[in-house]
Amino acid sequence: MIALDHHPSGRHFLQIPGPSPVPDRILRAISLPTIDHRGPEFGALGLKVIDGLKQVFRTRHPVAIYPASGTGAWEAALANTMSPGDAVLMYETGHFASLWKKMAERLGLQPEFLALPGTDPATGLPWSWRRGVQADLIEQRLRADTGHAIKAVCVVHNETSTGVTSDIAAVRRAIDAAGHPALLMVDTISGLASADYRHDEWGVDVTISGSQKGLMLPPGISFNALSPKALEASRVAKLPRSFWAWDEIVEMNKSGYWPYTPNTNLLYGLSEALDMLLEQGLDAVFARHQRWAEGVRSAVRAWGLPIQCADAAVYSPVLTGVITPAGVDADALRRLIHERFDLSLGTGLGKVRGRMFRIGHLGDCNDLTLMAALAGVEMGLKLAGVPTAGSGVQAAMSYFAAHPAPQGLRSAA
Ligand SMILES: *Cc1c(COP(=O)(O)O)cnc(C)c1O
Repeated sequence: MIALDHHPSGRHFLQIPGPSPVPDRILRAISLPTIDHRGPEFGALGLKVIDGLKQVFRTRHPVAIYPASGTGAWEAALANTMSPGDAVLMYETGHFASLWKKMAERLGLQPEFLALPGTDPATGLPWSWRRGVQADLIEQRLRADTGHAIKAVCVVHNETSTGVTSDIAAVRRAIDAAGHPALLMVDTISGLASADYRHDEWGVDVTISGSQKGLMLPPGISFNALSPKALEASRVAKLPRSFWAWDEIVEMNKSGYWPYTPNTNLLYGLSEALDMLLEQGLDAVFARHQRWAEGVRSAVRAWGLPIQCADAAVYSPVLTGVITPAGVDADALRRLIHERFDLSLGTGLGKVRGRMFRIGHLGDCNDLTLMAALAGVEMGLKLAGVPTAGSGVQAAMSYFAAHPAPQGLRSAA
């Protein structure tokens, strides 16, 4: 066993927005014996998971699977399509968008970072970290790029550091309205399989995702969904790539195999996760997360604390960011809650470090796991001496009781 320095009884409450709690059904699938990745059974598994993933990404085109965390799939998207010195237009929605931009710089690209200007006077936090992508800013910038120097527009669909989603269809319309040929690349590492996402319909060229969030798997595999235009771009792009190269993967995937050793046991888990998601139906999966998110937000409102996302139209169904009052260190509060109640909450990242914490409502959850998590937060707020307007636990209980999950909206198990 792993050397943990303490063994609390009962299940740990992993309420961070990824890795998410893994359902037992998936853990059991992962525990099956590893098979020969060049043998006859493997091809059937490979074909099955690729077919299921296409349904989840809502695409008819290839999806590459990497034995890597989401960061690897970010790199794959850029390395396959860009050439040294290419200009890329990125948009600052939070910490993950900032990390992707830093990667673009390290790869020798020239990222330009658009952001909503200004600071919210009430919280002192940047507006761009409280709202989604403003498609009109992208359209304006692309219209000004008459020489078409910008080769790609890169945005994060579900910004996990803030709990804000962005309207990807609006970004597509902005690119089209400007008549600009840039590729559209979207990170939905934490949005896929929890929030509505449509790779083909929204005209996305590369969609990046990962295993450990909405797909309910442990960390360790990640994805690039491609468009014909992205594949075309990869034939002339000049950034060096080998491990990440799409051509060999896409070719071998046609028979369900990989050019190198794939993560066999995580693919068993993926196969199980896809069965669960597709048995339930994606629309039911999205509705389940929306309902949990509203229950959690009703608690935050009752406490009288601001929700990090300042625009109700783009609340994340995956997580809720909670801003602590001035002078209350959100990380000290998280530590206290972890020590006392064995509950892990997401930390504030980058520009919001210490100012907020995040409650994940994804993965293997149900109303009662969320109620327990909210009770842990409420007890922690009291112990830390944070004044609250009322009981968030009571508000969430009322919400969940008054809004029963329709048949089939409970977490499949
Ligand atoms: C988790 C996450 C990443 C990073 O993925 P890793 O698996 O940690 O490499 C990138 N972008 C978003 C939006 C994420 O949620």
